[in-house]
Amino acid sequence: MRLQDAPIPVPDAGEVVVRVRVALTCGTDLKTYRRGHAKLPFGLFGHEGAGEVVAVGDGVSHLQVGQRVTWLPTAPCGACPLCQRGRPNLCRRLFDAVVLGTYAEYLRINARVAAQHVFQLQGLSDLQGAFVEPLACVIHAWRQLEPLPGKRVCIVGTGAMGYLHLMEAQARGCETVVVGRRAERLELARALGAQHTIQASDDADWQAQALRLTDGGADVVVEATGAKAIWELAPNLAAPGGKVLLYSGLAKGETVSVLAERWHYDELTILGSFHFTTQDAHTALERLRHGQLPVERLITGVYPLREIVAVFEQLDQGAGIKYAIVPD
Ligand SMILES: [Zn+2]
Ligand SMILES: [Zn+2]
Repeated sequence: MRLQDAPIPVPDAGEVVVRVRVALTCGTDLKTYRRGHAKLPFGLFGHEGAGEVVAVGDGVSHLQVGQRVTWLPTAPCGACPLCQRGRPNLCRRLFDAVVLGTYAEYLRINARVAAQHVFQLQGLSDLQGAFVEPLACVIHAWRQLEPLPGKRVCIVGTGAMGYLHLMEAQARGCETVVVGRRAERLELARALGAQHTIQASDDADWQAQALRLTDGGADVVVEATGAKAIWELAPNLAAPGGKVLLYSGLAKGETVSVLAERWHYDELTILGSFHFTTQDAHTALERLRHGQLPVERLITGVYPLREIVAVFEQLDQGAGIKYAIVPD
């Protein structure tokens, strides 16, 4: 990764240019940094942020210079079979027009995204606004889980997404068990309101503990580690009739195996979830405006843009949950 000088972008028709006020790091960026990404091109980096509109292209009337906004990195095409079937998050052309490069002073937002997925930040700080994208992904996942089979939820993983799942579970009145490896991460989970936490180890003890705390299995198990081993054992933590959300994507070409007996005889529902819809983003904005979600507590530190390389070195070593990057 390196910083590079570039001219300030000028918007074409339908586009907008924002001055970035804050960008966030995300597990997706870290995965891309480490091993590439199944869907995203390797190039301009960063996809979560908030900023101020500084220029709009011809034909843009719904956004104005001076507005504080956040945006999503993609928007659906509206025309492909998946869009037509009401599954815009699975749009076949989602990544034709992706907005990457929030680790910058200025960002050009393409016309498709500008038309659909730029949101004003009334009532929200820049930092809160930058959480709309990751929170929309989590809210989308929980819509996949509806109807909830029960209120006992086991979340495995204490990265930023694990905590956002915890916040969503609480917003829905669930009782939560959070599993993670590091004591300080579990402490944060408790501070954020998790009823129980379990320190994961290399033996199976923690799984027995999870089953005990959920009275034989959780109604909903959320995998938020992106680790193959956890994808494989997450169904074992579910109650009969439970739902298992395999949330954090694995590398392209990866395969997993799951205990078939439980899947079949206990009627487990095993779900994937990807990305978000416009509706999810609006729900995320609402939650952030009125739900008092303590998202600021997920920020490990605030660093100037010139230190972005060092920030990713930290993330790569497993240090920190989520960093806020501000222009120099
Ligand atoms: Zn993200
Ligand atoms: Zn489409």
